[in-house]
Amino acid sequence: MSFTPSILIVEDEPSIGEVVALYLQKAGYHTISHTNGAQALQWLSEQQRDASLPDLIILDIMLPGVDGYEILRWVRDHSDTPVIFITARREEAERIIGLDLGADDYVIKPFSPQELVSRSRAVLRRAIRSENKTEKAIVFGELSIDPTLRLVTRNGQEVLLTSREFDLLWLLVQHPRQVFSREQLLDKVWGITEYIDPGTVTVHLRRLREKIEHNASEPTHLVTVWGVGYKFEP
Ligand code: CA
Repeated sequence: MSFTPSILIVEDEPSIGEVVALYLQKAGYHTISHTNGAQALQWLSEQQRDASLPDLIILDIMLPGVDGYEILRWVRDHSDTPVIFITARREEAERIIGLDLGADDYVIKPFSPQELVSRSRAVLRRAIRSENKTEKAIVFGELSIDPTLRLVTRNGQEVLLTSREFDLLWLLVQHPRQVFSREQLLDKVWGITEYIDPGTVTVHLRRLREKIEHNASEPTHLVTVWGVGYKFEP
């Protein structure tokens, strides 16, 4: 989760959902919004299939159709993505059920958007810590990439990477053989696509190749898929 964290907001009241999204975006997060429980669930199962679930879910309990509990249950069955739920003040039982189902935190309506941002930040921080604790180094032949130490070694020799180069490499090695377009890499590693020239990715890839490949002009790990993008070949 070293790139811009993404947050799914599921809230059927547009006035609340929009304000929450705005505050989270201002705080530097990437947001995805759904106002319908069934659509949110559908979207989540697609993300799950692509191994790209959001880093945090903000979930209203009272939704028409598929409610927040059902979504929370699904999330807990499929991932450890943190969840903050939104509940109405009068429903104490809601809070207990939500926490019992494995939510990480909650806010009570009406809540201040700034408070929700603070709670989101805290939950994400905890998630990063526990993720880093369990994330092991990935080893491909002579190459070892350790996400906790953010350390790359080749034949036991440390390879000095910039923070961005590391994030880019880490994303690619976590999804071996999956092809990413330059726009996807910008989105996931840089967190923004509007203001950055996709050529930036090309430049970073070239530097990474010079650092980790035997022959940067004939790369065996960081492979170009012509007309599509890049992939990591183990
Ligand atoms: Ca609602």
